[in-house]
Amino acid sequence: MSREIRFYNTLTRQQEAFHTLEPGHARVYTCGPTVYNVVHIGNLRTFLFEDVLRRTLQELGYRVTQVMNLTDIDDKTIRGASAEGVSLREFTDRYIALFFEDIDTLRVQRAEHYPRATDYVPQMVELVRRLTANGHTYVLDGSTYFRIASFPQYGRLSGVLLDEVKAGARVDADEYEKEDVRDFVLWKASKQGEPVWDTVLGPGRPGWHLECSAMGTALLGESFDIHTGAVDNIFPHHENEIAQSEGATGRPFVHTWLHAEHLVVEGEKMAKSKGNFFTLRDLVERGHDPAAIRYLLLSVPYRQKLNFTFDGLAGAESVMRRIDNTLRRLAHTPAAGDGGALAATDVAAFEAELLDGLADDLNTARALAAFHMLLTRVNQALDGEGIAQPVRDRLDEAFGLVQRTLDILPARPKAADDAAGIDALVAERTAARKGRDFARADAIRQELAGRGIILEDTPHGTVWHRQ
Ligand SMILES: [Zn+2]
Repeated sequence: MSREIRFYNTLTRQQEAFHTLEPGHARVYTCGPTVYNVVHIGNLRTFLFEDVLRRTLQELGYRVTQVMNLTDIDDKTIRGASAEGVSLREFTDRYIALFFEDIDTLRVQRAEHYPRATDYVPQMVELVRRLTANGHTYVLDGSTYFRIASFPQYGRLSGVLLDEVKAGARVDADEYEKEDVRDFVLWKASKQGEPVWDTVLGPGRPGWHLECSAMGTALLGESFDIHTGAVDNIFPHHENEIAQSEGATGRPFVHTWLHAEHLVVEGEKMAKSKGNFFTLRDLVERGHDPAAIRYLLLSVPYRQKLNFTFDGLAGAESVMRRIDNTLRRLAHTPAAGDGGALAATDVAAFEAELLDGLADDLNTARALAAFHMLLTRVNQALDGEGIAQPVRDRLDEAFGLVQRTLDILPARPKAADDAAGIDALVAERTAARKGRDFARADAIRQELAGRGIILEDTPHGTVWHRQ
């Protein structure tokens, strides 16, 4: 690979040079949404970190196979479907469609596979059968449990202590706290009102943790490279995944574990009861630009807590305008002749710094700082001697790199229609000035000012930008 990538591995609690098990092929499992509601901006922060992960791996030469599961059966989806009196499939189909709309709005690249848990029940049953053969399970009241005392490595990922396990204590819920380190359910005996599969394990349905182990190994193999999620997945979800997978296969499950920190809103934990709980749709309805939301959620490296504030979002929107203005100014300024005030080596240095930042445990703040430095250099060059054509071509390549890795340049299509009209008015004003029709020229300037468009007469002609 052209550049070494370093990741902070939750499992070893240190930064490590990344290597794939199969040369050149990165196999990545990302815990996906539980499709019982619309995802909130904290979930989206995690999905955006995973998006930059996949883009960075691709840019640095890896073929990526990414799996993101859709949890369409667990305590929450069953509760939601039964509250509405619809089938589980009908209920979860709706939230799966909304999930894809949201990630498309935020420009998240699609993974290679989006398995639904309910399509992998035979693989889950097989996994439990292997765990039983290896002495890791027991059955009680028709449910099958994982006996964590049979797996001495339990706790290696999360640091929970096995000696705190209450002897014989079990937990049936899909989600539970660290205080509840205990045997967890793999296969739940059928209950009135719950979907049921008739299998060799008896009538019942899978537990949440089992689903990810089965889909991960089915699509990526028994050992693969990267597993990601949010920090609240570390315990019990990922700890249980390791126990189930390694208990069944006897092989290391995943090499590198990456976890995104929480998002808080205005310094507080997000909660519906506090009125600070936001979905992407909430923000778009308030008139916020999805590109700016993406920018804001990427601006803090994934291992740091992100404090989402409306001031911060306004700041991201003004950054979007700055980028847009610079790009348009560049497009409207003719190329300088020989020389120019920006060198191709400056552009190459920017590209190297952006990639170094991303290879440094996905340090998006460092990558974005490099981009802002480049924009400053571009603006300074346009203020001065301009930029020669070969360097402009290199800039186009650099902007392509920004889009492939971070995808933060402002959306174009709508602005471009608008821009054509503005261009026509600017040209008309230039013609009016040439013909000494200053009244018409001033009228056009004022009309554009009313639309928030500022004109700047430069030695290279008139350049416009948005306020
Ligand atoms: Zn999972």
